[in-house]
Amino acid sequence: METVQAAALPDGIRELPIVAGDLALDFANTVDDPLGPLRHDHVADYRGLLVWARRTGVLTEGGELLRSAEANRRGAATVVRRAESLRTAINLTFGALVDGVPPDEGWRQLRPFVTDAIGQARIQDGRPGWEYTELAAPLWPVAHAAYELLTGDERRRIKRCAGCPWLFLDQSKNNSRRWCSMEICGLNEKMRRYTTRRAERRLR
Ligand SMILES: [Zn+2]
Repeated sequence: METVQAAALPDGIRELPIVAGDLALDFANTVDDPLGPLRHDHVADYRGLLVWARRTGVLTEGGELLRSAEANRRGAATVVRRAESLRTAINLTFGALVDGVPPDEGWRQLRPFVTDAIGQARIQDGRPGWEYTELAAPLWPVAHAAYELLTGDERRRIKRCAGCPWLFLDQSKNNSRRWCSMEICGLNEKMRRYTTRRAERRLR
Protein backbone atom coordinates (compact mmCIF):
# COMPACT_ATOMS: atom_id res chain seq x y z
CA MET A 1 0.00 0.00 0.00
CA GLU A 2 1.14 3.48 -0.82
CA THR A 3 1.38 5.90 2.08
CA VAL A 4 1.01 9.66 1.93
CA GLN A 5 4.23 11.51 2.67
CA ALA A 6 4.44 15.14 3.70
CA ALA A 7 5.72 17.48 1.01
CA ALA A 8 8.74 19.56 2.09
CA LEU A 9 7.67 22.43 4.34
CA PRO A 10 8.68 26.03 3.52
CA ASP A 11 11.86 27.33 5.16
CA GLY A 12 11.47 27.95 8.88
CA ILE A 13 8.14 26.08 9.11
CA ARG A 14 8.23 23.11 11.45
CA GLU A 15 6.27 19.90 11.42
CA LEU A 16 2.96 20.52 13.20
CA PRO A 17 3.11 19.59 16.90
CA ILE A 18 0.25 17.23 17.91
CA VAL A 19 -0.28 18.12 21.57
CA ALA A 20 -3.98 18.54 22.42
CA GLY A 21 -4.70 15.02 23.66
CA ASP A 22 -7.96 14.86 21.68
CA LEU A 23 -8.56 14.38 17.97
CA ALA A 24 -11.06 17.25 17.61
CA LEU A 25 -8.84 19.71 19.50
CA ASP A 26 -5.78 18.61 17.54
CA PHE A 27 -7.73 19.43 14.40
CA ALA A 28 -8.59 22.83 15.88
CA ASN A 29 -4.83 23.37 16.29
CA THR A 30 -3.80 22.77 12.67
CA VAL A 31 -2.79 26.40 12.15
CA ASP A 32 0.66 26.54 13.72
CA ASP A 33 1.94 29.77 15.29
CA PRO A 34 -1.54 31.27 14.65
CA LEU A 35 -0.66 34.80 15.79
CA GLY A 36 3.04 34.76 15.03
CA PRO A 37 5.36 35.39 12.10
CA LEU A 38 5.59 31.68 11.16
CA ARG A 39 1.84 31.16 10.87
CA HIS A 40 1.23 28.10 8.72
CA ASP A 41 -2.00 26.27 7.94
CA HIS A 42 -1.09 22.59 7.81
CA VAL A 43 -4.36 21.50 6.20
CA ALA A 44 -4.52 24.22 3.54
CA ASP A 45 -4.49 21.59 0.79
CA TYR A 46 -5.77 18.05 0.48
CA ARG A 47 -2.36 16.43 0.84
CA GLY A 48 -1.84 18.34 4.09
CA LEU A 49 -5.17 17.04 5.35
CA LEU A 50 -4.11 13.47 4.57
CA VAL A 51 -0.71 13.92 6.20
CA TRP A 52 -2.44 15.19 9.35
CA ALA A 53 -4.93 12.30 9.25
CA ARG A 54 -2.06 9.81 9.05
CA ARG A 55 -0.10 11.43 11.85
CA THR A 56 -3.11 11.36 14.17
CA GLY A 57 -4.04 7.78 13.29
CA VAL A 58 -7.28 8.58 11.44
CA LEU A 59 -5.81 6.93 8.34
CA THR A 60 -3.21 4.21 8.06
CA GLU A 61 -2.06 5.02 4.52
CA GLY A 62 -4.17 7.39 2.40
CA GLY A 63 -2.62 6.68 -1.02
CA GLU A 64 -6.01 5.84 -2.54
CA LEU A 65 -7.52 9.13 -1.32
CA LEU A 66 -4.56 11.09 -2.65
CA ARG A 67 -5.03 9.51 -6.08
CA SER A 68 -8.77 10.31 -5.94
CA ALA A 69 -7.94 13.90 -5.01
CA GLU A 70 -5.53 14.23 -7.92
CA ALA A 71 -8.23 12.91 -10.25
CA ASN A 72 -10.87 15.23 -8.78
CA ARG A 73 -9.20 18.50 -7.86
CA ARG A 74 -12.44 20.41 -7.57
CA GLY A 75 -13.86 17.81 -5.15
CA ALA A 76 -10.66 17.91 -3.11
CA ALA A 77 -10.77 21.72 -2.96
CA THR A 78 -14.36 21.52 -1.67
CA VAL A 79 -13.26 19.15 1.10
CA VAL A 80 -10.43 21.50 2.07
CA ARG A 81 -12.92 24.36 2.39
CA ARG A 82 -15.19 22.12 4.46
CA ALA A 83 -12.23 21.18 6.65
CA GLU A 84 -11.64 24.87 7.31
CA SER A 85 -15.31 25.34 8.26
CA LEU A 86 -15.15 22.32 10.55
CA ARG A 87 -12.05 23.72 12.21
CA THR A 88 -13.78 27.07 12.72
CA ALA A 89 -16.83 25.30 14.20
CA ILE A 90 -14.66 23.29 16.62
CA ASN A 91 -12.72 26.38 17.69
CA LEU A 92 -15.95 28.33 18.23
CA THR A 93 -17.64 25.52 20.15
CA PHE A 94 -14.85 24.69 22.54
CA GLY A 95 -13.58 28.25 22.75
CA ALA A 96 -17.03 29.17 24.08
CA LEU A 97 -16.85 26.38 26.68
CA VAL A 98 -13.44 27.59 27.82
CA ASP A 99 -14.83 31.11 28.12
CA GLY A 100 -17.80 29.80 30.13
CA VAL A 101 -20.48 30.73 27.59
CA PRO A 102 -22.99 28.38 25.92
CA PRO A 103 -21.65 27.23 22.53
CA ASP A 104 -24.79 28.03 20.53
CA GLU A 105 -23.11 29.45 17.44
CA GLY A 106 -20.36 26.82 17.45
CA TRP A 107 -22.91 24.04 17.69
CA ARG A 108 -25.00 25.55 14.88
CA GLN A 109 -21.92 25.32 12.66
CA LEU A 110 -20.72 21.96 14.00
CA ARG A 111 -24.04 20.10 13.88
CA PRO A 112 -24.17 19.43 10.10
CA PHE A 113 -20.67 17.91 10.25
CA VAL A 114 -21.72 15.61 13.11
CA THR A 115 -24.93 14.61 11.31
CA ASP A 116 -22.92 13.86 8.17
CA ALA A 117 -20.40 11.76 10.13
CA ILE A 118 -23.12 9.67 11.80
CA GLY A 119 -24.96 9.34 8.49
CA GLN A 120 -21.83 7.92 6.83
CA ALA A 121 -21.02 5.39 9.56
CA ARG A 122 -21.33 1.66 8.81
CA ILE A 123 -21.02 -1.26 11.20
CA GLN A 124 -17.45 -2.55 11.19
CA ASP A 125 -16.30 -5.15 13.70
CA GLY A 126 -19.62 -4.79 15.49
CA ARG A 127 -19.61 -1.00 15.90
CA PRO A 128 -20.17 2.05 13.72
CA GLY A 129 -17.08 3.21 11.85
CA TRP A 130 -16.06 4.62 8.49
CA GLU A 131 -14.62 3.40 5.25
CA TYR A 132 -12.11 5.87 3.93
CA THR A 133 -13.09 5.78 0.28
CA GLU A 134 -14.62 9.25 -0.13
CA LEU A 135 -12.63 12.47 -0.20
CA ALA A 136 -14.55 13.87 2.78
CA ALA A 137 -13.99 10.75 4.90
CA PRO A 138 -11.08 12.12 7.01
CA LEU A 139 -13.45 14.80 8.37
CA TRP A 140 -15.97 12.28 9.78
CA PRO A 141 -14.00 10.93 12.75
CA VAL A 142 -12.97 14.51 13.59
CA ALA A 143 -16.57 15.72 13.69
CA HIS A 144 -17.60 12.66 15.67
CA ALA A 145 -14.74 13.20 18.15
CA ALA A 146 -15.95 16.79 18.60
CA TYR A 147 -19.44 15.53 19.42
CA GLU A 148 -18.08 12.98 21.91
CA LEU A 149 -15.96 15.66 23.57
CA LEU A 150 -18.89 18.04 23.76
CA THR A 151 -21.19 15.46 25.34
CA GLY A 152 -18.68 13.70 27.62
CA ASP A 153 -17.15 14.46 31.03
CA GLU A 154 -13.77 15.40 29.57
CA ARG A 155 -15.18 18.72 28.38
CA ARG A 156 -14.46 20.08 31.85
CA ARG A 157 -10.76 19.56 31.16
CA ILE A 158 -10.58 21.66 28.01
CA LYS A 159 -8.30 24.67 28.29
CA ARG A 160 -6.82 27.35 26.07
CA CYS A 161 -3.05 27.74 26.13
CA ALA A 162 -1.86 30.66 28.24
CA GLY A 163 0.44 31.74 25.41
CA CYS A 164 -1.51 31.12 22.20
CA PRO A 165 -5.06 30.32 20.97
CA TRP A 166 -4.54 26.54 20.86
CA LEU A 167 -6.94 24.34 22.82
CA PHE A 168 -6.01 21.18 24.71
CA LEU A 169 -7.30 18.63 27.16
CA ASP A 170 -5.65 18.99 30.56
CA GLN A 171 -5.07 15.42 31.70
CA SER A 172 -2.72 16.34 34.54
CA LYS A 173 -3.77 15.03 37.97
CA ASN A 174 -3.91 18.45 39.62
CA ASN A 175 -5.38 20.26 36.63
CA SER A 176 -2.26 22.40 36.34
CA ARG A 177 -1.36 22.31 32.66
CA ARG A 178 -1.09 25.84 31.25
CA TRP A 179 0.60 25.45 27.89
CA CYS A 180 -0.21 23.78 24.61
CA SER A 181 3.37 22.60 24.94
CA MET A 182 6.16 23.46 27.37
CA GLU A 183 8.62 23.47 24.44
CA ILE A 184 6.55 25.95 22.46
CA CYS A 185 4.67 28.44 24.64
CA GLY A 186 6.07 27.46 28.05
CA LEU A 187 9.62 28.27 27.01
CA ASN A 188 8.57 31.49 25.29
CA GLU A 189 7.00 32.62 28.56
CA LYS A 190 10.12 31.66 30.54
CA MET A 191 12.28 33.62 28.08
CA ARG A 192 9.95 36.60 28.29
CA ARG A 193 10.12 36.60 32.10
CA TYR A 194 13.88 36.19 32.00
CA THR A 195 14.40 39.13 29.65
CA THR A 196 11.93 41.29 31.63
CA ARG A 197 13.83 40.52 34.87
CA ARG A 198 17.14 41.32 33.22
CA ALA A 199 15.79 44.59 31.87
CA GLU A 200 14.49 45.47 35.35
CA ARG A 201 17.87 44.72 36.93
CA ARG A 202 19.60 46.92 34.40
CA LEU A 203 17.31 49.82 35.32
CA ARG A 204 18.16 49.61 39.00
ZN1 LIG B 1 0.47 27.68 23.13
